[in-house]
Amino acid sequence: MTFENTREFAQDLDNKDVLRQYQDEFIFPKVNDKKVIYFTGNSLGLQPKRAKSYVDEILNDWANLAVEGHFYAQKPWWDYHERFANPLSSIVGALPSEVTVMNTLTVNLHLLMVSFYQPTATQYKIICEEKAFPSDQYMFQSQVHFHGYQPEDAIVEIKRREGEHNLRLEDILAKIAQVGDALALVLIGGVNYYTGQVFDMKAITQAGHQVGAKVGWDLAHAAGNVKLHLHDWNVDFAAWCSYKYMNSGPGNASGCFIHEQHHNNPNLPRFAGWWGHNKERRFKMEPNFDPIHGADGWQISNLPVLSLAPYLASVTLFEEIGMDALILKRDKITAYLEFILHEIDQEVNGNFEIITPANPSERACQLSVFLHGEGRSLFDYLMKNGVITDWREPNVIRLAPVPMYCSFEDMYEFGQILKAGILAK
Ligand SMILES: *Cc1c(COP(=O)(O)O)cnc(C)c1O
Repeated sequence: MTFENTREFAQDLDNKDVLRQYQDEFIFPKVNDKKVIYFTGNSLGLQPKRAKSYVDEILNDWANLAVEGHFYAQKPWWDYHERFANPLSSIVGALPSEVTVMNTLTVNLHLLMVSFYQPTATQYKIICEEKAFPSDQYMFQSQVHFHGYQPEDAIVEIKRREGEHNLRLEDILAKIAQVGDALALVLIGGVNYYTGQVFDMKAITQAGHQVGAKVGWDLAHAAGNVKLHLHDWNVDFAAWCSYKYMNSGPGNASGCFIHEQHHNNPNLPRFAGWWGHNKERRFKMEPNFDPIHGADGWQISNLPVLSLAPYLASVTLFEEIGMDALILKRDKITAYLEFILHEIDQEVNGNFEIITPANPSERACQLSVFLHGEGRSLFDYLMKNGVITDWREPNVIRLAPVPMYCSFEDMYEFGQILKAGILAK
């Protein structure tokens, strides 16, 4: 498709956009009395309007029923999480029994490492990406220490080649083969948070299994953004936060996936709690742990229902739209943003460098742009003019044109503001 850098062309794309009505499902902050252009849904998704009624329902049930709400609320609290099984399983490509919601992302990855990282004297290494998200780095280091190994020895980072911004699949596969028998676990972000690169999760999972390692994925930037087939890819485990592309609200609960093949394995260690116990017998308060078969068996505590409520509201939007329609728009709006960036770059001699892969199969809804020669003042200009983006040192802006609520006209408008900001220097 050939694009044009005009308002009319962008409006025409909006008129043809089958997801257009969903922009009205979200609350946009305002700057100068105008809805912002929101590019940071990869950091904190906007609030769905329907979130409030879901939260109010819990508050009302709590007021009217108090403890009885566990069983008699409109959506009883004791098994509130079960409402996520169907919608989440279609979002991540899993069986309903393979997904659950609990805790928060890093906590869940720690818990899943309890089950899936069991180092031995000869097989104890972890492969991860270079410059992984800091929380993941701290997690790896502390897990390795906990088991009595040294991070310098046990953690193997896959590096970018000199002068390149992205990891090459061939280098990842080669590293897995090289570490071979010593490899206990591969755990990488499915979508890199900084560059937006999407990894070939199927090929990497297969390569890890070939050398006898377990393979897990941190899907913080992938859930609700990328088409996933966790079950078919034979991924051992995965977890994601829900406040980025899943629009569930700040710091909200995490989702996790545990492959069916591990559900009934009594040899898998896990840290247990009463919410993972046989549901029918939970309130009999028995001394011996009898885990629920499935991902729910990894639950520990009584549910934070007030925070699950906006997550559930958001999940209904994904259910209505479906990942396929979302991804069609994602690719088109991302390509349009890329086009706009190239146009503005030419107009202002900008020397912009998009470090996200140009190949649509290696990226999703994020373009990270190196604005050579620009400083923080440009970022401040964008923010003042209603473009919410984020700035990473030295001078990279990350732009996520989230398909559920961003418009093509937003992309056009952003181009105009960016140009004015650069010319205003
Ligand atoms: C956002 C993000 C996290 C955040 O973890 P929390 O435990 O929810 O604070 C972790 N890993 C990656 C890759 C992320 O992008």
